[in-house]
Amino acid sequence: MSEQYASTGLVFDEPLLWEKGSKGRQGFSMPVRDVEKCPLDSDLEGDLPDLPDLSEPDVVRHYTRLSQWNFCVDTGMYPLGSCTMKYNPKVNEKYAALEGFAGAHPMVPSFLSQGVLKLMYDLEGVLREITGLDAVTLQPAAGAQGELAGMLVINAYHRAGNKKHSKILVPDTAHGTNPASASLCGYRPVSVKSNENGILSARAISEVMDEDTAGIMVTNPNTLGLFEENVSEIARIVHAKGGQVYCDGANMNAMMGVVDLGRTGIDVLHLNLHKTFSTPHGGGGPGAGPVCVKKHLEPFLPVPRIVLKDGVYEIDEEYPDSVGRLHSFYGNFGVMIRAYSYILTMGFAGLKKASQLAVLNANYIRTALEGDFYLPYDRFCMHECVFSDKFQREDKVITLDMAKRLIDFGFHPPTVYFPLVVDGAIMIEPTETESKETIDQFISACKAIAREAKENPTLLKDAPSKSKVKRLDETAAARRPCLLG
Ligand SMILES: *Cc1c(COP(=O)(O)O)cnc(C)c1O
Repeated sequence: MSEQYASTGLVFDEPLLWEKGSKGRQGFSMPVRDVEKCPLDSDLEGDLPDLPDLSEPDVVRHYTRLSQWNFCVDTGMYPLGSCTMKYNPKVNEKYAALEGFAGAHPMVPSFLSQGVLKLMYDLEGVLREITGLDAVTLQPAAGAQGELAGMLVINAYHRAGNKKHSKILVPDTAHGTNPASASLCGYRPVSVKSNENGILSARAISEVMDEDTAGIMVTNPNTLGLFEENVSEIARIVHAKGGQVYCDGANMNAMMGVVDLGRTGIDVLHLNLHKTFSTPHGGGGPGAGPVCVKKHLEPFLPVPRIVLKDGVYEIDEEYPDSVGRLHSFYGNFGVMIRAYSYILTMGFAGLKKASQLAVLNANYIRTALEGDFYLPYDRFCMHECVFSDKFQREDKVITLDMAKRLIDFGFHPPTVYFPLVVDGAIMIEPTETESKETIDQFISACKAIAREAKENPTLLKDAPSKSKVKRLDETAAARRPCLLG
């Protein structure tokens, strides 16, 4: 098999538009002036902006070439663990762009926005069905903001019962945003160690759970890609001491249609629409992190809520116990359209199949690579599997070298050095949308890299060699960022 599985294409050197410009060149034709010339208002006068003169093809080619240097899900496999970089069907983009949705203004009165409100109301309904919980807010703009919303809801619930707590339990396999969200809400996160199987044990929780603890934040599946099997028992222990159970459900793509989370004892859950439910992400947003809660927490959800009264959708702000508003207007509506369209086009059977395939693909990779890379938790995984560089370190090759080398093979690197519980972690999430052929190519690339680590480690130290930019000095990039390009 050839060494390079996917082509990086022709690489052009692309000068700045200012370097390409040539005086007098233009990309459009203005009609001949047929009115008298008159000066600008004095406050509009000043230096003209320094813009280059360019023809239309100059501009089109410049931006098209730049766009081709980008690696994205539309060009190749992007196995970034915990991020669910799956392929998002284009039909969802089409619906999000429908004029009635894209042109809807949030200040239009609700009696003229019934379609938009209905979509949000119905999306809440299908998310209730998918999660098994009782009420939903679509407002948070990201997973982390969903966590904060959930923490605020738990805090408001406790305050309504005249209870104050200083701590919250956060397992060492939780997503990094969890302790941050808990602290933002004024709680001190108490780290709980997972057991030798990489999951939480009920015993570990019963040892630390007390009446000064507001609850627990469990990431399920956790960041080792493992299902937290003891969550129901843990929920009983936490509830018995008056605590609430928060579930980070950002990786719902491993469980849709398979687990009824409402019956696992959790009280609050957030979803990441931009991961599980079809919104392209990775460039910094926008996203949506809806929060789903059990009935007893509904009064505390953020306002405004969308309600249906006598067949009319209305925006309701009258929730006196609400934690308040978290986003301007109603949240990122464009993301909600994509999610709704995705869920309806997939159907519940399709969503279940997607979860099954996500889990199958991850386990296929886990078993194919377990001889080549060290697998710290050698057991059935969910939607992602976590290896480490323990074998390769004997040849002085580390995770970063292997991640960079994957770029030469045409793949985006997996998540590296996360989760923190695994030293030199390599966290692979293939997602359900990759074909067996693509996954096999990825596996061969990883195996080739494991061989290179033994036979020719310098190749890995110099990687990537085929990309536009080579190995970056990441410390300098972080300490002395050059924002001008
Ligand atoms: C991605 C992720 C988050 C954070 O979501 P953002 O939308 O990036 O804020 C939280 N928890 C888990 C488990 C995640 O995978």
